[in-house]
Amino acid sequence: MPTAIETEIAELSVSMVPNIDKIRFVNSGTEACMSAIRLARGFTKKDKIIKFAGCYHGHSDSFLIAAGSGAITFGTPNSPGVTEGTAKDTLLARYNDLENVNELVEANKDVIAAIIIEPVAGNMGCIPPVDGFLEGLRSICDSNDILLIFDEVMTGFRLANGGVQELKNINADIVCFGKVVGGGLPVGAFAARNEIMNYLAPIGPVYQAGTLSGNPLAMAAGLAMLKTINADADLMNRLEEKTKYLHNGIADALNKNNVTHTINRIGSMISVHFSEDAVVDFDSAAKGNNDTFKKFFHGMLNKGIYIAPSAFETWFITDALTYEDLNETIAAVEDIAKDL
Ligand SMILES: *Cc1c(COP(=O)(O)O)cnc(C)c1O
Repeated sequence: MPTAIETEIAELSVSMVPNIDKIRFVNSGTEACMSAIRLARGFTKKDKIIKFAGCYHGHSDSFLIAAGSGAITFGTPNSPGVTEGTAKDTLLARYNDLENVNELVEANKDVIAAIIIEPVAGNMGCIPPVDGFLEGLRSICDSNDILLIFDEVMTGFRLANGGVQELKNINADIVCFGKVVGGGLPVGAFAARNEIMNYLAPIGPVYQAGTLSGNPLAMAAGLAMLKTINADADLMNRLEEKTKYLHNGIADALNKNNVTHTINRIGSMISVHFSEDAVVDFDSAAKGNNDTFKKFFHGMLNKGIYIAPSAFETWFITDALTYEDLNETIAAVEDIAKDL
């Protein structure tokens, strides 16, 4: 049975996120994305999906094709155990490359159910969409009866109260959430307009269920988190200012010591790449100097600062960090930069 608290977080989510009428809670981001593509396939009656190299949508079989983050770090972006039958329904595109998406859609007329994307990528470092990219995907989807799925497991309730849909003013057809929405407990969710959500069981034919989905403990944590975000009109600005401050400080420290690098940043998401070229997709992210990253990581750790242990992870700035914390971080970078 649903609980009152699940209804309350559902209503609050729907009020914060643009273009959704209904939301269903699950237990992880993996489940949210897995259920979202099943819904898209059922709704469109088509089988294939397009995902982008370097994007991570959890560990369900359909997505373990050129997956980002931990999968790249451990050298298994394509996992054993995923059958050829499953893999053939996942088409791979290059992030920020509309031409490439167009070619795939032309070559697979009338069989693509959905394009799923991290609308700001966070699992190959932080890679924002170039101007026109998301708009282009929206229009390709509109003209080919394809659903656009935004995987906002990282960006939802972080880059804006309404996520990237709000930040970039683009409507997705299905949106996936996780991480922030659980306030530290295991929660995921997916949401869409009525027309699509009503295709889910029990109203519609696409099955989805879960014993612990919407359990009151997890819902209480998520609700407390969303209420806190919703009540603090200055939060997103404050986070962005802190992230910008860190960005400038790290860039100065690395430049002073002639360390080749590129920093990507949007809102409270930031990543440092030891690379000369712009980092705009998986290939350019993979060009970063991993040996330098390892020295950087261990140098920082020795100074008591534990950054994400992979060159492909984004850093997320929390409001709990003070400017003293940021100054200490920048000072540590300055100290170790001469040895990089
Ligand atoms: C973390 C993540 C997931 C998977 O969420 P889990 O809760 O770890 O299953 C899916 N998509 C994105 C973009 C993520 O960052």
